[in-house]
Parts: sequence; C-alpha cells; structure tokens
Amino acid sequence: MESNPPIPASAAQIEAALTNAQRLEAVRSTGLLDTLPEESFDRLTRLAAKLTGAPVTFVSLLDSCRDFYKSAYGLGEPLSTTRQLSGRTFCHYPLVSGEPLVLDDVTQLPVYGDVPTVQSLGVRAYAGIPLRTEDGEVLGSFCAVDFKPRQWTERDVEVLTELAYSAMRELRLRKALQDAETLNQQLQAQVQQVDALNRALSELATTDVLTGLSNRRAFDHHLKLELGIVDRRDTPLSLLVLDVDHFKRINDTHGHETGDKVLQAIAQVLARCARAIDMIARVGGEEFAVILPNTNAGGALEVAQRMRIAVAQAHCAGHQVTISVGSATLQSHEDATSLFSRADAALYAAKAAGRNRMVSAA
Ligand code: GH3
Ligand code: MG
Ligand code: MG
Repeated sequence: MESNPPIPASAAQIEAALTNAQRLEAVRSTGLLDTLPEESFDRLTRLAAKLTGAPVTFVSLLDSCRDFYKSAYGLGEPLSTTRQLSGRTFCHYPLVSGEPLVLDDVTQLPVYGDVPTVQSLGVRAYAGIPLRTEDGEVLGSFCAVDFKPRQWTERDVEVLTELAYSAMRELRLRKALQDAETLNQQLQAQVQQVDALNRALSELATTDVLTGLSNRRAFDHHLKLELGIVDRRDTPLSLLVLDVDHFKRINDTHGHETGDKVLQAIAQVLARCARAIDMIARVGGEEFAVILPNTNAGGALEVAQRMRIAVAQAHCAGHQVTISVGSATLQSHEDATSLFSRADAALYAAKAAGRNRMVSAA
C-alpha cells in the first residue's frame, strides 16, 4: 500500500512548517522535548513493531532544527541514546501534507531517495502518521521503518494510526497531570503564604511593635487566664505597673525618635529582670506592666526593686532614666480591673513620693 502525496513538499514548505511559531509552541508545550524515555510511549512503539513486523518504530517530535524521538524502538547507536536527528527526515513530509506518508520503497522517488537516512541508516520503507493536536497542529509523527522494501498493508497503516492516536492521548494525559501538579504546587505555596500571613497577623495582634513586648490586648487576656489558674490552685499572684519618670523631658530635649529608642532599651532591661513565667507588657505610651504568677507581696517587692535599680543603672540608648513602680498582690475574690487599679494607685503614690521608687498597694 503506497499513498504518496501527489507532489512531495518542497524544502521551503518544510522549512516554513518546521519553524511555524504556533506549531513550535505546541511542540514545546508538550514538555516532552529532551525528556527521558517513558514506558507509556515505549509500550506503543513496541506494540507497533510487534503488530506490523517493522524492525524500527518511533515517536518523533519535530523541533525547529531537529527531530526528537520520545520513543525509539529498534534504533541502533548512537541514535538510540541521542534520540535526535538533524537534517531532512521522512517525518517532514507528513508534517506539511498533514496526511500519512506510506512508502514501500523510498528509492522510487528521487526526492525521498535523497533523504539522508536512506544512506546513513539504510531506510528503505517508511510509514509515518502525523501526530496532530486538537487544534490541528502537527507535532511530529508515529512511524515505522524497514531496511528493505516492504509492502505496508492497510492493517499496518490502521495499526500505526490507532497507535498515533494513543500517543496523542498519552501526551494529553501527561500534560494534564503536569498541569494538575503545577496547580497543586501553586496552591500549596498560597496556603503557606496565608499561614505565614496569619501567623504574622496574630503576632501583630498580640505584640507591641516598638518594643517587641506583649501589647495591652495580650496583657488583658493573659491576666484573665492567670486569675483563672489562681482560682483553681490558690496560688499567690502579683502585678507591677511601671511608668518612666519625666519621660516627656527625653522627648522634648532629644526628640521623639530618641524617646522610642529609650523605651526599647527599657523594655530589654525589664525583660532581663523577669522569669520565664512572668509576663511583661507595654500597656501605655511609657507605661509597662508585669504579671508575676506564684508571687506574693514580698516576692513582688523584690522583682520591682530589681527592675527599678536595673533601669536606673542602665544607660538606656545613652540616657539615664528612672522608673516608678506600683505593686499589688491579688486579694481573694478580686478581679483583674480592681487588681490593676490598686497597682496603678500605688504607682501614682510612688510618683507623688518623689519617683524612682516602688510602692506596694494597701
Ligand atoms: P511622669 O514622671 O509624671 O510620668 O512624667 P512623664 O513626663 O513621664 O509623664 P507624661 O505622662 O507627662 O508624659 C509621658 C510622655 O510619654 C508623653 C508622651 O509624648 C510620651 N510618649 C508616649 N508614648 C510614646 C512613644 O511611643 N514614644 C515616645 N518617644 N514617647 C511617647
Ligand atoms: Mg511617665
Ligand atoms: Mg505615663
């Protein structure tokens, strides 16, 4: 069975088809160029050889300047390893015609007899079915080759046509799988981004941006939790409220930015004086509070003095500052608001008494 196109395509026609941008895009978007052999395609070429009896069968993809063999059955070295050929090949003719090319004896027409693989590989018979996308782009062909003239039967051509169809189906499936995988990866990346954003948001919601200490909101929440624990365990709990003395002067003399740096430095000094279970928060402009779980009035006094002295002795961003501290120890049945206001009242007593001191609430 031989069905030559009436006039074989010219070199110019082949060149135009090979380099057609839309077609090349379709070939490259298969993602198959230069990929390793895959069983799903090799099975088809093996089957083609078995069913037609041809010694060589292959799936070629036509890149602009070379034919790449996604699967190559029965091809000897170096072609079975390199899996690509440059220069004119038989597959270029069905590319232009869009029709199967079936040649029982390639030497019958000079134009085919001049194809280099006739000399280099000894090709004598060729049958190639175009691999066509749903959009009509020809990607390459599904081929069978013999090294002696042979009469391809109608069944041979039917088999190759069916297998060409299967190769296209494999190709689409593979692409769909890859697309799904890419989408999945994008989705996972987005989920990670949302997670990171959520973490940043919840940190923002509980952290004071200037000092990195807990903010007022986190402080209120934590104090309630601690009061709940005290209720159950009957352990003591104290609260310190600290305020920077004459802080307005720092701002007025050295500027607001310096004031910020001083606040950051004070926060670090306070953090160094606290235990892991204590919670330090910035509860106002230059006002801090410390929750001291499992701490009675005596313990609170100790911590307060330690903090007061540490701040007074530190050079906070190059400035000497002092703090006043009010302390209150939880009384039975007292709530968070009452505890805080007693500590606050003690703080103002400390201010009134001359600052840089600590006063315990009554
Ligand atoms: P006192 O000893 O009575 O506490 O005097 P003070 O100057 O510290 O008290 P006052 O309440 O008069 O002033 C507090 C100042 O703290 C006023 C305000 O501008 C400043 N302040 C509040 N928040 C910030 C802040 O985030 N950064 C800076 N740099 N200053 C702040
Ligand atoms: Mg102050
Ligand atoms: Mg204040």
